[in-house]
Amino acid sequence: MSVLVVGSAALDSVKTPYGEVVDAVGGSAFYFAAAASYFAPVKIVAIVGEDFPLEKINFLKMRNADFSGLEIAPGDTFRWGGIYHQDMNQRDTSFTHLNVFEKFSPKLPPEYRKTPYVFLANIHPSLQMEVLDQVENPRLVMLDTMNLWIDTDLAGLKEVMARTDAVILNDQEARQITGEPNLIKAARDVIQLGPRTVIIKKGEHGAFIISENDFFALPAYPLESLYDPTGAGDSFAGGLIGFLAKHDDLSPAMFRKALVFGTVMASFAVEEFSVDRLRNLSEDEIQSRYRKLIAITRFE
Ligand code: AMP
Repeated sequence: MSVLVVGSAALDSVKTPYGEVVDAVGGSAFYFAAAASYFAPVKIVAIVGEDFPLEKINFLKMRNADFSGLEIAPGDTFRWGGIYHQDMNQRDTSFTHLNVFEKFSPKLPPEYRKTPYVFLANIHPSLQMEVLDQVENPRLVMLDTMNLWIDTDLAGLKEVMARTDAVILNDQEARQITGEPNLIKAARDVIQLGPRTVIIKKGEHGAFIISENDFFALPAYPLESLYDPTGAGDSFAGGLIGFLAKHDDLSPAMFRKALVFGTVMASFAVEEFSVDRLRNLSEDEIQSRYRKLIAITRFE
């Protein structure tokens, strides 16, 4: 089964204690697609400017990602700058130049509309709603968001959430949306808003999944070298939904495994700057991290 992602496409300038990149490939759509494409065919809807170096995303084409929904508009690509300090759980945004992203109005090519698995990446809730109005009978719609939209359009965000099957939030976002400090209660409060499944990410402390019938928690992959946390969340979502789409099975047991593959793909994403570590992974590398997570969580 194939996966549709609608999100940002960016040129990121990122500084961490380990180095710096300028105008590197970024944006939620590309991180997501890079991770998901190891599992399932990916269709991308995003906007770039004429200055975007398309050759730098050729690796996605080689893995059959579909770019017919990638709009190339006159003007400059969205640019985002971020700085991470010693504690890489915290980052400061140094600049956000929306450029062509300001005019983004997602248009799904007709052949995209029946895509069964849909990921609404981090874009304005009204744009996420526009996507929902264009898809036909999806099997699974999963939503991501960020503090900016929770601050500026919580009502709109809740309306979109009511139409989704699953949401992925980090701990701060879950608390901010619900006003509930306890994360398990916060996740249950989000379920009351409509989605049947809620996934909460806790950075280096792992993630958990809550649905009506299941609770499952997993630590992060034990990495000793982390160079750039940008895009970890989108790569996590890519591994997770890509795996579900590959098997086309939405049982609680498969969601548990999907959480593990999401964790594995996020662990690769942060090992290098930009999408670089996700360019050319082998099946063996992915499977061996999956097995390692099984090994470190088994206790009986
Ligand atoms: P994450 O680390 O998962 O939050 O994702 C980081 C990516 O989000 C970067 O590659 C940025 O280009 C992109 N990004 C940053 N700010 C925004 C925004 N306001 N809207 C959409 N994407 C953004």
